[in-house]
Amino acid sequence: MDLIIRRAMLPRSAASQDGQAVDIGIDAGRIVAVEPKLAASAAEEIDAAGSLVTPPFVDPHFHMDATLSYGLPRVNASGTLLEGIALWGELKPDLTQEALVGRALQYCDWAVARGLLAIRSHVDVCDPRLLAVEALLEVKRRVAPYLDLQLVAFPQDGILRSAGAFENLKRAIAMGVDVVGGIPHFERTMADGAQSVRLLCEFAAEQGLRVDMHCDESDDPLSRHIETLAAETQRLGLQGRVTGSHLTSMHSMDNYYVSKLLPLMRESGVAAIANPLINITLQGRSDTYPKRRGMTRVPEMMAAGINVAFGHDCVMDPWYSLGSGDMLEVAHMGLHVAQMTGVDGMHACFDAVTVNAARILGLEGYGVAPGCAANLVLLDARDPVEAIRLRAARLAVVSRGKVVSRAPAARAALSLEGRPAQVDFKLHRG
Ligand SMILES: [Zn+2]
Repeated sequence: MDLIIRRAMLPRSAASQDGQAVDIGIDAGRIVAVEPKLAASAAEEIDAAGSLVTPPFVDPHFHMDATLSYGLPRVNASGTLLEGIALWGELKPDLTQEALVGRALQYCDWAVARGLLAIRSHVDVCDPRLLAVEALLEVKRRVAPYLDLQLVAFPQDGILRSAGAFENLKRAIAMGVDVVGGIPHFERTMADGAQSVRLLCEFAAEQGLRVDMHCDESDDPLSRHIETLAAETQRLGLQGRVTGSHLTSMHSMDNYYVSKLLPLMRESGVAAIANPLINITLQGRSDTYPKRRGMTRVPEMMAAGINVAFGHDCVMDPWYSLGSGDMLEVAHMGLHVAQMTGVDGMHACFDAVTVNAARILGLEGYGVAPGCAANLVLLDARDPVEAIRLRAARLAVVSRGKVVSRAPAARAALSLEGRPAQVDFKLHRG
């Protein structure tokens, strides 16, 4: 074998060995064995020593065309969504393909180092030059040996509101963009929003593509495009291929209406993506106090059998000044905002940045089992809850069977009379 990772603990969602450490054998880019005390040898062996090995983090919602552009041409003074969109509009004419590719590749380096090996990125198609589309298709080719990048044709300014946007979106798909996007709540009227959902879903059905729309990213309880998205999914037979991103208006909706909406979403097989870091900072901006959190109803959707994942959305761009590609930070924020502090809830938040997100992207061979792709992350934590609590170091990241990143464990040396020489921030009992 090429590589064996010994004495690994698996997350609940991948655990077939029920709390027992396993050895993971890897050959020719595939996992070939997952069992205790594997009787084999390999060119390289890594001792996990009881730490967690997980399939890679997956970011199901990102904007790689804008990432790392913080401060260009100026910073977002108010920090609001609308100033962010205006700022992006100011930046667009100055974009060059070279700078875009450079920033995206730098972000992908960060992602790999964070064990984030699959990203679904929206790419703005409203610029008729489609410069960002060309740039991200180039990035997709360049990172393909180590990272799965899936692209969504995203009409930032609306397909009905912005002249030529739908045609540009179709051209982007013809160039090789994977998924049909949309932004119904940004169209001029509710009726236009619903019409945009219909047109885009029909186009996706014709082309046999997945759909992922920015949907109802507002605090308006009457923004109900998710209902149209679910109904169109059923009408066109798109079950399992459609995702509503953000869905923040659901936070503010009437409870009776939501009790009808959740079963409709469940029957339609529509998945949901919350973006906790962005939702908690951008929503509720028109409120005084009490101030709404604005994140969609994550635990309620999960309980209703809807697949829910968490996305990073933004890192150092016109909408968000912070972030570093760390999906554990995303899970940490999601856990807090959704108050998912029970044991099952915390594990569900880990799943939201791993296995649930992988299902949305339709990743093949994702998991820790024989036959799966050898994409793995060794964390400096013993289980998913500790990983979230510590935003644990990625001790080793394996992509396509090769170790592509290593990082030291987080340790601090103490100089205190009568106290230990070192702390690792883990609970050690007797
Ligand atoms: Zn977004």
